Amino acid sequence: MNPASSSYDERGIKGMFKKILFALDFSESSEHAFNYAYAMSRNFNARLIILHVIQEPIDLSGFYVPHISFEKLEKEIEEGAQKMMEAFCEKMDKDFTNYETEIISGIPYEEILGKAVKEDVSLIVMGTHGRKGIDHFLFGSTAERVVRSARCPVMTVRLS
Ligand code: AMP
Repeated sequence: MNPASSSYDERGIKGMFKKILFALDFSESSEHAFNYAYAMSRNFNARLIILHVIQEPIDLSGFYVPHISFEKLEKEIEEGAQKMMEAFCEKMDKDFTNYETEIISGIPYEEILGKAVKEDVSLIVMGTHGRKGIDHFLFGSTAERVVRSARCPVMTVRLS
């Protein structure tokens, strides 16, 4: 960005958001947050990347579950996630095509941060449950972890 002495328009504010990463876990809170990602994408004409992370289970393969059934289970989970993503995208306006989807396996906050760097996004949008007390202690917060380490701005939307 240009020095602070220039006007806001000269500083390229209009083109500020070129790519927006939206983290989708299919919960009510992330679906609510999507309204903001969608509005930002449309208003700034920014490419929208919708990312879902399949939480990596503890590696059970070879221990309790025969290898072959573990692979089958993984495949079914991937197919299920893909179907949910398709159903989610169906709800968007048909004239909106400036988006792409991705499903990856891993630890959600790590994958969200990694994708943001890889795609050099200008903004991450995500929901938050706003867990407190013991719930927060036990489950932590994906949003909090992303906010703490992201190199770009993060918009968190709490379902009130
Ligand atoms: P929190 O309530 O702080 O744990 O954050 C929940 C938010 O993190 C969700 O609304 C999503 O935006 C994001 N998130 C959590 N899990 C996933 C996941 N598996 N894939 C993509 N985004 C996720």
